[in-house]
Amino acid sequence: MILHIDMDAFFASIEQAINPRLKNKPLIVGSRGSKMHTVVCAASYQAKALGIHSGMPSRDAFVICPSLEFVAADQGKYIWTSEQIFELLKEYGLPLNYASIDEFQLDASGIKNPVSLGKKAKEQIYANFNITASVGIAKNWLLAKLASKLNKPDGLTLIDDSNLEQTLKKASLNKLCGMGGKTGQMLMDQGLKTCWDLYLKMPGFFEQNPGKFEEINQKPKSISHSYTLPRVENNPQVIKAWIRLLSEMVGVRLREQNLASNTVHLWLSGPEIGGFGAQKTAQIATNDSYEVYLRCLKIMARMPQKAPKIRALGVSASQLTLQDGPFLLIEEKRREALIRAFDRINSRFGEGSIYPAQVTVTHSKK
Ligand SMILES: [Mg+2]
Repeated sequence: MILHIDMDAFFASIEQAINPRLKNKPLIVGSRGSKMHTVVCAASYQAKALGIHSGMPSRDAFVICPSLEFVAADQGKYIWTSEQIFELLKEYGLPLNYASIDEFQLDASGIKNPVSLGKKAKEQIYANFNITASVGIAKNWLLAKLASKLNKPDGLTLIDDSNLEQTLKKASLNKLCGMGGKTGQMLMDQGLKTCWDLYLKMPGFFEQNPGKFEEINQKPKSISHSYTLPRVENNPQVIKAWIRLLSEMVGVRLREQNLASNTVHLWLSGPEIGGFGAQKTAQIATNDSYEVYLRCLKIMARMPQKAPKIRALGVSASQLTLQDGPFLLIEEKRREALIRAFDRINSRFGEGSIYPAQVTVTHSKK
């Protein structure tokens, strides 16, 4: 069985956990500091209940709820928490996959009681970080991810042979991964409403999703991070800030494992472009997050459309080599020393203590 662990309203929940004054209050996390001129990048469940959702201009959110609490996004904090949750789950000694900044997948094949493992993960996450997660358990990642969405927040949902039909009948098709956009709309136009309607048409689709897992304690083939934005986004500054953030996460993990990468892969998906993915192989291997980011920008420059709408994006580093010995070039060596110092400070004082400016400034006025 696969366990899909999805954090509930991740960014907003972290802010509420850190500041008890915000607990149980309608709260939005804005993509930048000026509270009336930003976009909601996360909403607490209390704000969601009022109809406030991510992607909405903050001004509109304040019209709905004038007493709304506001916090500017601090991505360093979210990455730090995400990495800590990953470390906690790694302790189980099972194959573990980083599905996105707030989603993790555990391969619990061979575990007698995956439901109690799911409970334990939820309890430990809550005990350590004071935030809740919803866990979905099923035979493959597609169904497990779907299950995680069915009883949010703080849910624990098992889909097995005994309740497959009944569960899929209750789940609307757009809840299924990959069915949120064009494909889902096309199928719904054909009269398919629930996941069960799709199952009857294409049972194989639900069977052939075993999931990918990095082998723990072995050199991985690639290191990647991806993120699905709450809404489509076509502001290039915002998209670049997300690429910068994902590059940072990839860089941190490369350096942690003493790896460097020659090939950087960027993929973007959105309603107009479908999926776009391309890679760039450079002669010099790198584990410098900023360099990974620059290579991504070069890939992005090759896209035919200039400012397409983006819904999801991912950065991956492959052709990995163990980084042995010092760098040859002085400049590189200096930069390497600086990056290591940066990682040391962050691991001592909490990730995000020092952070590249672009990551924090998600929206910047041109
Ligand atoms: Mg989530």
